[in-house]
Amino acid sequence: MSNIDSLAEAFMKFPGIGTRQAKRFVYFLLAQDPYFVDTLSREIAELKKTIVQCSGCFRFYPRAGTSTLCNVCIDDADSATLMVVEKDTDFESVRRSGGYAGHYFILGGTIPVLERDPASKIRIHELLTRVENGAKDGLSEIILAMSVNPESDFTRDYITKAITPLAEQLGIAITTLGRGLSTGTELEYSDGDTLRHALKNRK
Ligand SMILES: [Zn+2]
Repeated sequence: MSNIDSLAEAFMKFPGIGTRQAKRFVYFLLAQDPYFVDTLSREIAELKKTIVQCSGCFRFYPRAGTSTLCNVCIDDADSATLMVVEKDTDFESVRRSGGYAGHYFILGGTIPVLERDPASKIRIHELLTRVENGAKDGLSEIILAMSVNPESDFTRDYITKAITPLAEQLGIAITTLGRGLSTGTELEYSDGDTLRHALKNRK
């Protein structure tokens, strides 16, 4: 197998990339100057060394010191609320809106509607543990902040069912952000005003 084929195979593992697009990426790289390709290779090689996953919220962040927690989990967060989002880019949007000052939890995906093993698609066990630990630090509300589309709706319902018994036992309220957003809304593309409004009107 040539380097062209092997690299194309690697690109095909990327989300949403098929054979033809993968090949186009390879030929694109061949057409670039060596500096671009060298820089890109170095960025990729460094990625896993400089970026780590937070043991509290599971988001990826630049490693600093020896803590396994990110700056948001350590510093400036109000431990009474925990916002559950689908992915790192959703976290970034909410953070940028400036309308929320509590803790976060990144689910790591959504559950396809016909999925037979839903628990394998998101960090549901980790979330349950996080809620249990959070209760010791005064957690009183879990905000489910998902996008508004069938897969996200399904995921939200699954999570609600999974955490309700524990939340009830610990006296923690479960609220939803999605109702403040219109149908088809992707959280990561929502502007600051929309997010702040949805947060204020959560139910
Ligand atoms: Zn964190």
